[in-house]
Amino acid sequence: MTSQRDPRVLIVSGPSGSGKSTLVKKLLELPGTLLSISCTTRRPRSNERDGEWYNFVSAEEFERMVERGEFLEHARVFGRHSYGTPRRWFEEARRKALDLVLEIDVQGAEQVKLKLRDAVAIFILPPSRQELETRIRARGADSEEEIARRLERARQEMQCYTDYDYVVVNDDLERAGREVQAIALAARCARAMNDERIRKILDSFGG
Ligand code: 5GP
Repeated sequence: MTSQRDPRVLIVSGPSGSGKSTLVKKLLELPGTLLSISCTTRRPRSNERDGEWYNFVSAEEFERMVERGEFLEHARVFGRHSYGTPRRWFEEARRKALDLVLEIDVQGAEQVKLKLRDAVAIFILPPSRQELETRIRARGADSEEEIARRLERARQEMQCYTDYDYVVVNDDLERAGREVQAIALAARCARAMNDERIRKILDSFGG
Protein backbone atom coordinates (compact mmCIF):
# COMPACT_ATOMS: atom_id res chain seq x y z
CA MET A 1 0.00 0.00 0.00
CA THR A 2 1.33 3.45 -0.80
CA SER A 3 0.36 6.76 0.71
CA GLN A 4 1.18 10.34 -0.13
CA ARG A 5 0.00 11.65 3.20
CA ASP A 6 2.53 12.44 5.93
CA PRO A 7 2.42 9.67 8.52
CA ARG A 8 0.96 10.28 11.94
CA VAL A 9 3.78 10.66 14.44
CA LEU A 10 3.47 9.62 18.08
CA ILE A 11 6.19 10.92 20.40
CA VAL A 12 6.79 9.25 23.75
CA SER A 13 9.10 10.85 26.35
CA GLY A 14 9.64 10.47 30.05
CA PRO A 15 12.40 10.06 32.60
CA SER A 16 14.50 6.95 32.82
CA GLY A 17 12.67 4.49 35.09
CA SER A 18 9.22 5.81 34.16
CA GLY A 19 8.56 2.67 32.11
CA LYS A 20 8.34 4.46 28.79
CA SER A 21 9.99 1.69 26.77
CA THR A 22 7.43 -0.82 28.09
CA LEU A 23 4.64 1.58 27.14
CA VAL A 24 6.15 2.08 23.69
CA LYS A 25 5.98 -1.71 23.28
CA LYS A 26 2.29 -1.53 24.21
CA LEU A 27 1.82 1.06 21.45
CA LEU A 28 3.61 -1.19 18.99
CA GLU A 29 1.14 -3.98 19.78
CA LEU A 30 -1.42 -1.90 17.89
CA PRO A 31 -1.55 -2.97 14.23
CA GLY A 32 -0.50 -0.14 11.94
CA THR A 33 2.38 1.19 14.02
CA LEU A 34 6.09 1.34 13.21
CA LEU A 35 8.98 1.94 15.63
CA SER A 36 11.53 4.54 14.62
CA ILE A 37 14.91 2.99 15.40
CA SER A 38 17.16 5.77 16.66
CA CYS A 39 20.88 6.09 16.00
CA THR A 40 23.06 6.60 19.03
CA THR A 41 26.75 6.98 19.77
CA ARG A 42 26.43 5.25 23.15
CA ARG A 43 27.59 1.68 23.47
CA PRO A 44 25.09 -1.18 23.48
CA ARG A 45 24.17 -2.62 26.88
CA SER A 46 24.59 -6.37 27.35
CA ASN A 47 20.92 -7.08 26.49
CA GLU A 48 20.83 -4.85 23.40
CA ARG A 49 21.33 -5.89 19.81
CA ASP A 50 22.12 -3.51 16.98
CA GLY A 51 19.09 -2.68 14.88
CA GLU A 52 16.50 -3.84 17.42
CA TRP A 53 15.83 -0.66 19.43
CA TYR A 54 18.88 1.37 18.37
CA ASN A 55 21.43 1.50 15.62
CA PHE A 56 24.77 1.94 17.34
CA VAL A 57 27.10 4.18 15.35
CA SER A 58 30.45 5.90 15.93
CA ALA A 59 30.62 9.62 16.72
CA GLU A 60 32.16 10.14 13.26
CA GLU A 61 29.35 8.33 11.47
CA PHE A 62 26.78 10.25 13.50
CA GLU A 63 28.41 13.57 12.48
CA ARG A 64 28.40 12.51 8.83
CA MET A 65 24.68 11.74 9.10
CA VAL A 66 24.07 15.18 10.65
CA GLU A 67 26.01 16.86 7.81
CA ARG A 68 24.06 14.94 5.19
CA GLY A 69 20.80 16.10 6.82
CA GLU A 70 19.70 12.54 7.49
CA PHE A 71 18.03 13.22 10.86
CA LEU A 72 14.50 14.40 11.51
CA GLU A 73 15.82 15.49 14.91
CA HIS A 74 18.94 14.86 16.93
CA ALA A 75 20.26 15.84 20.32
CA ARG A 76 23.02 15.30 22.79
CA VAL A 77 21.31 13.65 25.73
CA PHE A 78 22.61 14.25 29.26
CA GLY A 79 25.58 16.01 27.66
CA ARG A 80 27.18 12.66 26.90
CA HIS A 81 25.98 10.80 23.85
CA SER A 82 24.20 11.77 20.68
CA TYR A 83 20.85 10.34 19.65
CA GLY A 84 18.90 10.96 16.47
CA THR A 85 15.81 9.92 14.52
CA PRO A 86 16.75 9.06 10.92
CA ARG A 87 14.36 10.61 8.40
CA ARG A 88 14.16 7.31 6.57
CA TRP A 89 11.72 5.97 9.21
CA PHE A 90 9.41 8.83 8.41
CA GLU A 91 9.62 7.97 4.70
CA GLU A 92 9.07 4.30 5.43
CA ALA A 93 5.99 5.07 7.56
CA ARG A 94 4.66 7.21 4.70
CA ARG A 95 5.29 4.48 2.13
CA LYS A 96 3.60 1.82 4.23
CA ALA A 97 0.86 4.14 5.60
CA LEU A 98 1.83 3.34 9.20
CA ASP A 99 1.87 5.46 12.36
CA LEU A 100 5.45 6.24 13.40
CA VAL A 101 6.38 5.89 17.08
CA LEU A 102 9.34 7.91 18.38
CA GLU A 103 10.80 7.26 21.81
CA ILE A 104 12.90 10.39 22.22
CA ASP A 105 13.95 12.89 24.85
CA VAL A 106 12.44 16.30 25.55
CA GLN A 107 14.85 18.15 23.23
CA GLY A 108 14.02 15.84 20.34
CA ALA A 109 10.29 16.15 21.03
CA GLU A 110 10.55 19.93 20.84
CA GLN A 111 12.31 19.74 17.45
CA VAL A 112 9.77 17.31 16.02
CA LYS A 113 6.82 19.38 17.26
CA LEU A 114 8.26 22.43 15.51
CA LYS A 115 8.59 20.54 12.22
CA LEU A 116 5.45 18.43 12.39
CA ARG A 117 2.59 20.39 13.89
CA ASP A 118 0.27 17.38 13.99
CA ALA A 119 2.65 15.12 15.88
CA VAL A 120 1.04 13.79 19.06
CA ALA A 121 3.31 13.98 22.10
CA ILE A 122 2.83 11.81 25.20
CA PHE A 123 4.76 12.32 28.42
CA ILE A 124 5.12 9.40 30.83
CA LEU A 125 5.25 10.31 34.50
CA PRO A 126 6.24 8.01 37.36
CA PRO A 127 3.66 8.12 40.19
CA SER A 128 6.09 9.76 42.64
CA ARG A 129 9.76 10.49 43.31
CA GLN A 130 9.76 7.70 45.90
CA GLU A 131 8.42 5.19 43.37
CA LEU A 132 10.95 6.26 40.73
CA GLU A 133 13.78 5.87 43.24
CA THR A 134 12.49 2.42 44.22
CA ARG A 135 12.41 1.36 40.53
CA ILE A 136 15.91 2.68 39.83
CA ARG A 137 17.25 0.91 42.96
CA ALA A 138 15.47 -2.32 41.99
CA ARG A 139 17.59 -2.50 38.85
CA GLY A 140 20.59 -2.73 41.15
CA ALA A 141 22.84 -1.31 38.46
CA ASP A 142 23.66 2.16 39.77
CA SER A 143 25.91 3.70 42.41
CA GLU A 144 24.44 6.14 44.96
CA GLU A 145 25.93 8.98 42.92
CA GLU A 146 24.31 7.73 39.70
CA ILE A 147 20.95 7.27 41.44
CA ALA A 148 21.06 10.88 42.68
CA ARG A 149 22.01 12.03 39.15
CA ARG A 150 19.14 10.13 37.55
CA LEU A 151 16.63 11.54 40.03
CA GLU A 152 17.84 15.09 39.41
CA ARG A 153 17.66 14.52 35.64
CA ALA A 154 14.12 13.18 36.02
CA ARG A 155 13.16 16.31 37.99
CA GLN A 156 14.49 18.53 35.19
CA GLU A 157 12.88 16.54 32.36
CA MET A 158 9.54 16.51 34.10
CA GLN A 159 9.43 20.33 34.01
CA CYS A 160 8.89 19.95 30.23
CA TYR A 161 5.57 18.11 30.54
CA THR A 162 3.71 21.29 29.50
CA ASP A 163 5.06 20.90 25.95
CA TYR A 164 3.16 17.59 25.58
CA ASP A 165 -0.39 16.91 24.45
CA TYR A 166 -0.98 14.04 26.87
CA VAL A 167 0.40 12.88 30.20
CA VAL A 168 0.16 9.24 31.28
CA VAL A 169 0.97 8.37 34.90
CA ASN A 170 2.54 4.95 34.98
CA ASP A 171 1.36 3.66 38.35
CA ASP A 172 -0.32 0.61 36.83
CA LEU A 173 1.21 -0.84 33.69
CA GLU A 174 -2.01 -2.39 32.36
CA ARG A 175 -3.98 0.83 32.71
CA ALA A 176 -1.16 3.06 31.43
CA GLY A 177 -0.79 0.70 28.44
CA ARG A 178 -4.46 1.02 27.63
CA GLU A 179 -4.18 4.79 27.94
CA VAL A 180 -1.31 5.14 25.43
CA GLN A 181 -3.16 2.87 23.02
CA ALA A 182 -6.33 4.94 23.45
CA ILE A 183 -4.36 8.11 22.63
CA ALA A 184 -2.98 6.50 19.47
CA LEU A 185 -6.45 5.34 18.41
CA ALA A 186 -7.97 8.75 19.10
CA ALA A 187 -5.21 10.37 17.02
CA ARG A 188 -6.28 8.18 14.09
CA CYS A 189 -9.75 9.73 14.26
CA ALA A 190 -8.54 13.35 14.37
CA ARG A 191 -10.48 15.21 11.71
CA ALA A 192 -7.48 17.16 10.48
CA MET A 193 -5.67 13.92 9.68
CA ASN A 194 -8.60 12.39 7.83
CA ASP A 195 -9.58 15.07 5.33
CA GLU A 196 -8.85 12.93 2.27
CA ARG A 197 -10.75 9.92 3.62
CA ILE A 198 -13.73 12.03 4.66
CA ARG A 199 -13.82 13.70 1.24
CA LYS A 200 -13.92 10.30 -0.48
CA ILE A 201 -16.87 9.21 1.67
CA LEU A 202 -18.73 12.45 1.00
CA ASP A 203 -17.91 12.12 -2.72
CA SER A 204 -19.49 8.68 -2.73
CA PHE A 205 -22.70 10.48 -1.73
CA GLY A 206 -22.28 12.78 -4.68
CA GLY A 207 -20.37 15.54 -2.83
P1 5GP B 1 19.03 5.34 26.79
O1 5GP B 1 20.47 5.59 26.47
O2 5GP B 1 18.82 5.14 28.29
O3 5GP B 1 18.45 4.25 25.95
O4 5GP B 1 18.22 6.66 26.40
C1 5GP B 1 18.56 7.89 26.94
C2 5GP B 1 17.57 8.93 26.49
O5 5GP B 1 17.70 9.18 25.07
C3 5GP B 1 16.10 8.57 26.70
O6 5GP B 1 15.44 9.69 27.26
C4 5GP B 1 15.60 8.31 25.29
O7 5GP B 1 14.20 8.61 25.19
C5 5GP B 1 16.42 9.29 24.51
N1 5GP B 1 16.48 8.96 23.06
C6 5GP B 1 16.50 7.75 22.48
N2 5GP B 1 16.54 7.85 21.14
C7 5GP B 1 16.51 9.18 20.87
C8 5GP B 1 16.52 9.94 19.64
O8 5GP B 1 16.54 9.42 18.52
N3 5GP B 1 16.49 11.28 19.78
C9 5GP B 1 16.47 11.92 20.98
N4 5GP B 1 16.43 13.25 20.98
N5 5GP B 1 16.46 11.24 22.15
C10 5GP B 1 16.49 9.89 22.09
